[in-house]
Amino acid sequence: MNQVIFEKSIPGRSAYSLPACDVPARKTEDLIPNQMLRANVAELPELSEVDVLRHFVGLSQKNYGVLSGIYPLGSCTMKYNPIVNERVAGLDGFTGTHPSMDCPGNLRLMGELQAMLAEITGMDAVTLQPAAGSHGEMTGLMIMKAYHEKRGEPQRTKILVPDSAHGTNPASVTMAGLQTVQIKSDLSGNVDLDDLRAHIDGQLAGLMLTNPNTLGLFEVNIQEIAALIHAAGGLLYYDGANQNAICGITRPGDMGFDVIHLNLHKTFSTPHGGGGPGSGPVGVKQALVPFLPVPTVVYDDGSYRFGGDNPDSIGKVRSFYGNFAIMVRAYAYIRSMGAQGLKAVSENAVLNANYLMAGLRDFMKIEYDRTCMHEFVASGLPQKEQGVSTLDIAKRMLDYNVHPPTVYFPLIVREAMMFEPTETESKQTLDALVETMQTILTEAAENPELVKTAPHNRPVGRLDELKAARKPVLTWDQRTP
Ligand SMILES: *Cc1c(COP(=O)(O)O)cnc(C)c1O
Repeated sequence: MNQVIFEKSIPGRSAYSLPACDVPARKTEDLIPNQMLRANVAELPELSEVDVLRHFVGLSQKNYGVLSGIYPLGSCTMKYNPIVNERVAGLDGFTGTHPSMDCPGNLRLMGELQAMLAEITGMDAVTLQPAAGSHGEMTGLMIMKAYHEKRGEPQRTKILVPDSAHGTNPASVTMAGLQTVQIKSDLSGNVDLDDLRAHIDGQLAGLMLTNPNTLGLFEVNIQEIAALIHAAGGLLYYDGANQNAICGITRPGDMGFDVIHLNLHKTFSTPHGGGGPGSGPVGVKQALVPFLPVPTVVYDDGSYRFGGDNPDSIGKVRSFYGNFAIMVRAYAYIRSMGAQGLKAVSENAVLNANYLMAGLRDFMKIEYDRTCMHEFVASGLPQKEQGVSTLDIAKRMLDYNVHPPTVYFPLIVREAMMFEPTETESKQTLDALVETMQTILTEAAENPELVKTAPHNRPVGRLDELKAARKPVLTWDQRTP
C-alpha cells in the first residue's frame, strides 16, 4: 500500500471554519479545573470533512457485507433485513428511553414480543434477557439444571449432544455446570437412535438438538427421540438458530421440545456479524416457567409491568432486560410480515437452498443427497485429493465478489462447505453463484496455482487467520510501522 497516500493528515487542515468570536473569550483554565487539563496537546489527525468521509466510506467498501452481494454463510442466516425495521428501532421514543424508566410502551412491546415468540415456537412463556444464542443456551441449560435439582434429582447432569452440533452447545453445557456426552449421527445425517439409546441412563439431564440440524437436514425421528428422552426423565433443548427454515410450518413445542432459544439476529431482522449485539430469547414449557430469569414482563390489570418475584428463578442473566433495540426490530418484522409472511420466508429459504443444491450437484460432491431445509453441506474432498483445498476454493470465491459458505463445519464432514442462501436471494443471484462455483472448480482442475494463491483482487491477500483474530492490528501509526 502506498504509505504517502495512506497518511492523510496535513498540518493545519481542519474540518470546520467558524466566524471570528464576537463575545469575550474565556480561558480554558476558567472552564475546566486545572488538574483535569491534559498536559500535552492531543495528536489528532488534521483532516477536512471530505477527507474523513472518504476515509470511512473507503474502509467500508473494503469490507464484504450482505449489501455487497450474496453471503451464503451456513448456520448464520446472513439475510438482507428490511431497512424499515432499522428506522423503527431508531425512533426517538425507543432510543431516548432509559431501561430504568419502565416505559409503558416499551413494556408493551416486550410483552407482546414474548407472546408472539411463544406462539411461533409453541412455548408457554419467553424471556427476552439473553444477549445471544449461546447466552440463551446457557440460560436454558441452567433452567434445566434447576428443574432437576428442584425435583430432588441433582445427579441428572448429562446432556446428550449430537456430533453435528454447533460448538457453542458443548461450551454452554460446561458453562451451566453440566457434562456433554456426544451422540453419533447416522448415515442419513440424523441422530443415530441406537447410539442415543445406549447413552440414556439415570444421569440424563436432557438432549440438546438443532432441528433442522447443522447439516440442513430435518430430524425425521424427532417424535421418537422426544418420547425416549421424556420416558427417561430428561428434557429436550432446542437450538433455534435454524428457525429460519420452519417459521409457520412446524414448531419446536409441537415436536416435543421443553426449552428453546431463538437468535433474533438471525431469523428476525437484526443484521449481524462483526460481533455486534445479539438477542437470544429463551422459551419454556409450563413446567419450567418458575425457573425463568427475572424480571419477566407480565400482563395484569390491563397493562404490562416487570414481574416474576419467583423464588425458584435462576436469577438475572443480563443487565436490565437485554438488547432492547433488537427486540424492536424483531417486533416490527413479525408484525409487518404477519403469519403468512413468516411462513413464506421459510418456504422460500428452503426452496432457495434446494435450488442451489440442485444446481451444484452436477459438479460438486453433496454430502447427504436428500431434500434439504434452508441449508446444505457440500464437500471439497474430490478437489482436495487433487491438491486444492476447500479453503483455497473459499478464498477464490472472494475474487468473484461472492462471500464463501461456512467452511470446515460441521466437523463430521471432511472439507465441508455449508451453503445457506436465505430467502432474500433471487434466482438470478443463485444461478450466478452456481456459475461461479463451476468456473472455480474448472480453474482448480486446470490451473490449481491460481486458486491456491487466491485471493488476487481483494484489498488484502491471504491472511494468517489465527493471528488476525488473536493479535489484530487495529490502528496504524506512521511512526511505528
Ligand atoms: C449461531 C449459532 C449458535 C450461537 O448463536 P450466537 O447468537 O452466535 O451465540 C448456536 N447454534 C447454532 C446452530 C448456530 O448457528
